[in-house]
Amino acid sequence: MVNSQVLQVGPLSERFNANLAGRYAVAPLWQQPDPLRFLKEQGGQFELLVSSARFGCSAEQLQCLPNLRAICSFGVGYDPYPLELLRDRGIVISTTPDVLNDCVADLAMGLIIDSARQLAAADRFVREGQWLTGNYPLTRKVSGKKLGIVGLGRIGQAIVRRAEGFAMPVRYYKRRQDPGSPYGFEVDLLALARWADFLVLACPGGAATHHLIDRAVLEALGPEGTLINVARGSVVDQAALVAALLNGSLGGAGLDVFGGEPTVPAELFALPNVVLLPHVGSGTHETRLQMEELVLANLQAFIDKGELLTPL
Ligand code: NAP
Repeated sequence: MVNSQVLQVGPLSERFNANLAGRYAVAPLWQQPDPLRFLKEQGGQFELLVSSARFGCSAEQLQCLPNLRAICSFGVGYDPYPLELLRDRGIVISTTPDVLNDCVADLAMGLIIDSARQLAAADRFVREGQWLTGNYPLTRKVSGKKLGIVGLGRIGQAIVRRAEGFAMPVRYYKRRQDPGSPYGFEVDLLALARWADFLVLACPGGAATHHLIDRAVLEALGPEGTLINVARGSVVDQAALVAALLNGSLGGAGLDVFGGEPTVPAELFALPNVVLLPHVGSGTHETRLQMEELVLANLQAFIDKGELLTPL
C-alpha cells in the first residue's frame, strides 16, 4: 500500500495543480514559508513526490524524506535530481518522454531556419520601417546543409527525421554508436563540428555533458557554422560561445536554453545571426497537456501497482 499524500515541489500549470489537488492530498512545498523546515518536521509522511525538470529535488530535500518511494517529474531532463542517491535509496523516478519529441524537434528546425535565414531579425527590420530605406541583406541557405547532432535519442531522432526533408546529410555523436542507425557515427566531437554546417545539441544536461561544447568545438564549427541548442545551457561554455559569436569565429546560433536562465547574455541581443528563445521547446498547449497527463498517469500507476509507466 502506498500512502497517497503527495509532496509537490514547485508549481506547474494552474490546470495541473488543480487536477493534482483534486485527486490527492497535496502539500505544495513552494507555498511553505520555510520549505526546508517544513520538510524536516513533516517530510516523513511522504512516499510520493511530484516535481519537474526545472524544480527537481535536491539531496538536502531528499534527506528529509526518509520514506520517499517515487518521484513523478514533468519534462524529460533529469539533471536537477541526484540520481545516484535516488538509486542507492531505491527511489524510482519517472519523466515524460516521447510526448514532447515533436514539439522540441519542430522548434530545433525553427531555430535552424531562423538562425540561417534570420526570420526574427528580418521581422524586426520590417517593423522598424527599415525596409522603406533598402533591402534586407542576403542570408544563408538551409536545405542541403550538413547537420551534426550531439545526442541521437528520442528528440534527436525526431530532429534528424525532419532534417531529411531538407535534404540535409546527418552525422551524430554520442557515447555509443547505434548499430542500426542509418546515420554516420562520429567518435570525435571536434571532427563532427568541423564537418557540420549546423551542430545541434539534443543530449542531456548534467555533469557528464558540462561544457561539452567548449571553445575548441566552437572554433571547429567555425565562421560558417551555426550552433543550435535545445538541450541544456550547461552543455555549452556560454562565455566561450558569446566570445565566438562576438569575434566572428562562430557563424551563428539558435538557442532555446542558457546557463543562468532566465538571464541571457545581453551582448547577444544586437546580433542578427543569433536567435534567442525563452526555453519553450515543449511549450505548446497540446504537448504540455500530454506531459501533465503522463505525470498523473505515472503517479496513479505507482499508487495502484507500485510501478511507474515511464521510469527513467
Ligand atoms: P534521450 O532519449 O535519453 O536521448 C539522449 C541522447 O543523448 C541519447 O542519444 C544519448 O546517447 C545521448 N547522450 C547521453 N549522454 C551523453 C553524453 N554524455 N555525451 C553525448 N551524448 C550523450 O533524451 P531525449 O528525450 O531525446 O531528451 C534529450 C534532452 O533534451 C533532455 O535531457 C533535455 O535536457 C533536453 N530537452 C530540452 C527541452 C527544451 O525545452 N528545450 C525539452 C525537452 C528536452 P548515449 O546514451 O548513447 O550517449
